[in-house]
Amino acid sequence: MLQQTQVQTVIPYYHRFIKTFPSFKALANASEHAVLKLWEGLGYYSRARNLHKLAKKVCELHEENLPSNYEELISLPGIGRYTAGAILSIAFDKPFPLLDGNVQRVFARLYAIDDNLREPQTIQKLWTLSEELLDRQSPGDYNQALMELGATICIPKNPKCLICPIQRYCKAFATGQQNILPVKSKAKPIPHYHIGAGVIWKKGEILISQRPSKGLLGGLWEFAGGKQETGESITDCVQREIKEELGISVKVQSEIATVDHAYTHFKITLHAHECKYISGTPKTIGCQDWKWIKPHELRDYAFPSANQPIIEKILKDSLSQDKSVFFHS
Ligand code: SF4
Repeated sequence: MLQQTQVQTVIPYYHRFIKTFPSFKALANASEHAVLKLWEGLGYYSRARNLHKLAKKVCELHEENLPSNYEELISLPGIGRYTAGAILSIAFDKPFPLLDGNVQRVFARLYAIDDNLREPQTIQKLWTLSEELLDRQSPGDYNQALMELGATICIPKNPKCLICPIQRYCKAFATGQQNILPVKSKAKPIPHYHIGAGVIWKKGEILISQRPSKGLLGGLWEFAGGKQETGESITDCVQREIKEELGISVKVQSEIATVDHAYTHFKITLHAHECKYISGTPKTIGCQDWKWIKPHELRDYAFPSANQPIIEKILKDSLSQDKSVFFHS
């Protein structure tokens, strides 16, 4: 949960998750829908799907306990070198190194390494350092202390060198480079897409579709739609996307919400339009499932964060007017 997400955001999710799934068995037996619903709003849903798959593997192959050797751990879904190192050192007190963004920064400053952190060779160099410096007597405490130092003292901007416990060993501090290091080349500019989405009404019900389980936001429910093409109006985009995804025809009506949302590698502006169902039976062309549901049932499904303001608007509007009459065809 903590990958790419701050501790404060994670805490309530963590407690709810552990309460609902107190064991690997409980998680393995849950439906993907239940897992995604608990993860709703936390983002990076592949983490939830991997955790779910991992729980199934742990039950199937390891008698419901997480294995304590590197090869078995690294073969489980969602576990890479960093996570394996963190589990082995912190949970099993085994001498395995780790390297997260915080630790990379600490090492780059401690040894005044001015190589670009975006280069794989630099990261390999830092892994070697992490291995060499590891405290083999207390690897769990050591690794946690290192990550904590990076998160609280050796922070990205204006590190707190005056209270740093390793200041006397630090080459960046000694040479006044603590605000220059580490070196990280600029990331490519993030693309910005406009997405048209349709809230399709028929006789008081709304059509929702489920994204394919693989890929971004896999398995989550959404209002059908997609990327606006060059020269295309948003209403044409909504109409086309719905036809391509579900094979039905709709009449695109007024915009009900505009939502800006940022993902790791791109940003979107989501334009949600109300649509009146015209003809055709929905098919799973660009989605894995679809459903007609009542507005109050929207809360029972896991939607991406960018869809939440649209859901709020629908629920608010459905309290103030009877859509079943307005959109009855
Ligand atoms: Fe980081 Fe400053 Fe400590 Fe060096 S002395 S490790 S730059 S906080």
